[in-house]
Amino acid sequence: MDINTKKLKKNAFRVTKERGKTAARIRVPGGHIESKHLRILQNIADKYGNGTLHITTRQGFEIPGIPMKYIPDVNKELQSIIEGLEINQVSPNSGYPASGTRNVSACIGNNVCPFANYNTTKFAKNLEKAIFPNDYHVKIALTGCPNDCIKARMQDFGIIGMTDPEYEAYRCIGCEVCVKNCKKKVTGALKFENYKVKRDSEKCIGCGECILKCPTSAWTRSNERYYKLVIMGRTGKKRPRIAKEFVTWIDEKSIIKIILNTYDYIEKYIDKDAPGGKEHIGYIVDRTGFQEFKKWALKDVELGEKAIVESNIYWE
Ligand code: SF4
Ligand code: SF4
Ligand code: SF4
Repeated sequence: MDINTKKLKKNAFRVTKERGKTAARIRVPGGHIESKHLRILQNIADKYGNGTLHITTRQGFEIPGIPMKYIPDVNKELQSIIEGLEINQVSPNSGYPASGTRNVSACIGNNVCPFANYNTTKFAKNLEKAIFPNDYHVKIALTGCPNDCIKARMQDFGIIGMTDPEYEAYRCIGCEVCVKNCKKKVTGALKFENYKVKRDSEKCIGCGECILKCPTSAWTRSNERYYKLVIMGRTGKKRPRIAKEFVTWIDEKSIIKIILNTYDYIEKYIDKDAPGGKEHIGYIVDRTGFQEFKKWALKDVELGEKAIVESNIYWE
């Protein structure tokens, strides 16, 4: 059977070490999926594959051992998952229309975790809607708070949840639990002065732990949701590095616009001779310089008043 490997990979199937066999790759934006979809994955694995499933590092699934001739059948069976997860598709029953931009991954967020400052699944799905399908190699991950369980700082775009804690002094009993916790575990942004807690907003990283610690709910999360956008982290054999802060106290809409702008920037600057036509975005930024990336990324972005944009970024 003649296989067009480029087409195969674009359709989210993998070239595997086993001749004539492929692996189907399944996107799960935010890593959250209704359990009923697992039955379909199980069925595909049993019927077409070798009866096993791999949970990928990007929170998708990979079903190995599928003979290439079954690709159209597998695509048909994947249809209800693609629809259930509301993934943009070009034509029904044809599987995924792209695989370049990796599955948007996320920690469990405020569906479950008390530390989370937002619903990571919802944001991941909003992002997926805006950016997929896309062939460029971009990795995005969302994490509900600075604990960064998803390792957002190892991605091209890492989105870290923040809150701007609000204090109601009349509720405060002066136990200083919040002050001690912030000092020990976070940044020491709180002080107890004149029977009230004072917050140094320059030092505060918006983690929201003071809110969780307070026994009287004197601290609450702000209605406004904020994020820290960290960029151009990467793993891989060539110069791995941790993502650096780009915009702090940014809103969701601006993040989505920045990422969409980045696809235009990649289109303009990608190395047309890159092996397989693929170049990771961080290497493009290394080539053009951060200032050129910044110019493209912030085009028509209307940042809120609180947002702080880094004037320059130096990666190690
Ligand atoms: S990063 Fe924060 S919100 Fe997400 S799972 Fe970890 S502790 Fe919870
Ligand atoms: S949000 Fe975090 S850093 Fe800010 S005051 Fe509360 S505990 Fe400290
Ligand atoms: S934990 Fe709550 S009650 Fe205790 S000092 Fe902080 S704000 Fe006041």
